[in-house]
Amino acid sequence: MRLVFLGKAGAGKGTQAKTLAAEAGIPHISTGDIFRAAVKAGTPLGVEAKRYMDLGQLVPDEVTCGLVRDRVGQPDCRTGFILDGFPRTVTQAESLQRDLAAVGLPLTSCVDFAVADDVLFERLTNRRTCRKCGAISNCVTAPSKVSGVCDACGGETYQRDDDRPEAIRTRLADYALKTTPLLAFYAGHHVPVVTLDAARPVSDVAAAVRRAVGRA
Ligand code: AMP
Repeated sequence: MRLVFLGKAGAGKGTQAKTLAAEAGIPHISTGDIFRAAVKAGTPLGVEAKRYMDLGQLVPDEVTCGLVRDRVGQPDCRTGFILDGFPRTVTQAESLQRDLAAVGLPLTSCVDFAVADDVLFERLTNRRTCRKCGAISNCVTAPSKVSGVCDACGGETYQRDDDRPEAIRTRLADYALKTTPLLAFYAGHHVPVVTLDAARPVSDVAAAVRRAVGRA
């Protein structure tokens, strides 16, 4: 399985990618997680990425494509991988096609997580993330037992800067403009695209993902 998970911020692709990758024993590659780790570590990549991330803007393609090229070239990706949050532009998709063609490991499918913008806006503004382990909670629909404390690890939960309303508007608008064209891109490059209704409960979406990638 060499998969791309497409979907707007908050569509739940990260949650599904994490579970499926663990089950299949393949790496889950989230560019957002890689950037957040770099920001936390204060590396030059993190300093550069933070300028864009805090505003909800995309990190420039040159930076992001190089990062993913290195990652998919690592030995653990030879058995498969799930890309979550990459590609987000046609330039990134073209770069990935070239990188994977060079190693003879083309994508096997693209799963598209569809959720309406108003549902996402509600999910994201209420989303809280653990600083320590990255676990997600929702202060309205799935609050942590103690406010501000992660149920999984006891770390502090916080609202990401890019989960604030202005940044969310930018991210949703960017998605429509720059990422939606990838559905046609993959259809034109013979990569099977499966769109699923990701507004359903997590377990229903998980079952749909498994059907989509032939692991039902
Ligand atoms: P995410 O956790 O996937 O929502 O990503 C958080 C932020 O990281 C995004 O809002 C962007 O600033 C940056 N980012 C993640 N993936 C990409 C990408 N493929 N291209 C450009 N920027 C990205």
